[in-house]
Amino acid sequence: MSRLFDIEGLTSQEREMQKEVLKKFRSKISPSLAKIVKQSDAVRKQFVPSPYEALDFGTDAPFEEGKMNRGIYGLERIYEDRAVLTPYFECSAYCRYCFKKTRTLGGEAKRMSDDDIAAAIDYIRADSRIKTVLITGGDPLIEPQLLENVLQQVNQIEHVRNIRIGTRNILFAPENITDDLADMIAKYNYIDFGNPRQSKNISIGLSINHGDELTSEVVRASQKMIRRGLAIRGQMVLMKGINDEAKTIRELIELFNCVGIVPYYLFHCMPVIGAKHFRTSVQKGVDILRELSPLSGSLAPHYVYVTQVGKHRVGPNHPFTYVDIDGQSYIKATTPYKAADFMAYSDSEALPPLHEIDENGYIVSYYLDGHDQAEVLA
Ligand code: SF4
Repeated sequence: MSRLFDIEGLTSQEREMQKEVLKKFRSKISPSLAKIVKQSDAVRKQFVPSPYEALDFGTDAPFEEGKMNRGIYGLERIYEDRAVLTPYFECSAYCRYCFKKTRTLGGEAKRMSDDDIAAAIDYIRADSRIKTVLITGGDPLIEPQLLENVLQQVNQIEHVRNIRIGTRNILFAPENITDDLADMIAKYNYIDFGNPRQSKNISIGLSINHGDELTSEVVRASQKMIRRGLAIRGQMVLMKGINDEAKTIRELIELFNCVGIVPYYLFHCMPVIGAKHFRTSVQKGVDILRELSPLSGSLAPHYVYVTQVGKHRVGPNHPFTYVDIDGQSYIKATTPYKAADFMAYSDSEALPPLHEIDENGYIVSYYLDGHDQAEVLA
């Protein structure tokens, strides 16, 4: 076992469980990240396989890899105004709260082919309601040539006004965020001063979960983007024992603000296989939002939990309806999404499990809640 994966103080039962986890799931930590993992407990917990991943829990495909909207590998759409492209499916490290660690995802079809990209571009071009294209992964910054190929083609679609790139590679490999890469991305930013509505904006969504991740190298790499006019939005996943206190989230957002990263989303941790020990109650995030509410609005992220039909926004005074299903607590909520729209955009014939239609045609979702106690082994 890599010494990096060696967690001090494990009981013999936990050691056996960690061995099982290492067999069951993939593990990867990039060299730059390894330096931070050695220094920060909060970062180590995100990347070093925990024995608690062995607990029987969750799904390995909350969002299927590749998605295959309309048979096009790498195209995904669930909203009217946005489409998602995943040109490259690999990451430089595997976050333990993500389904990418699942072995069944290894080996095959790690990228969109030229034909996939051409078909996805044709699809987006044919629907002028799509104003935003999110290019995500895996990590698109690992493969700059593939990214540029996609950017060039998306950029030529007139009605697409926003292009967003989702990444963690600024954290995983800041040394790879070169001036050339930043120049290549920034050249797609375009302001039409004569007719501002014809402008196009390209921005970056950066996932950072704890202030320890914003090292000098990561901030320097981020600044290469920001100084070229690329806004970076910071998104966080709420995780037990890592950032589930208002003080920790506040420190991170204050850090975002002072290095020029715009605080954006706080995600509740999804019910991913092996992620049970990370999942707080949804209410925990509400409590954090409430503590941040008296402070500047610049410290208030959008708090959301995500089901297969889309994001569910949660405010600081949000009431929840809890439902017991097979002995587990679910949050029942009417979404802002119409079932007919969802099925049309996502090319689905039915709603996903744990979703139903109300009398007005809106989707009602049931989301598995977490809890705020530490996991206890039987
Ligand atoms: S970088 Fe993103 S896609 Fe890759 S493992 Fe982490 S959370 Fe998952």
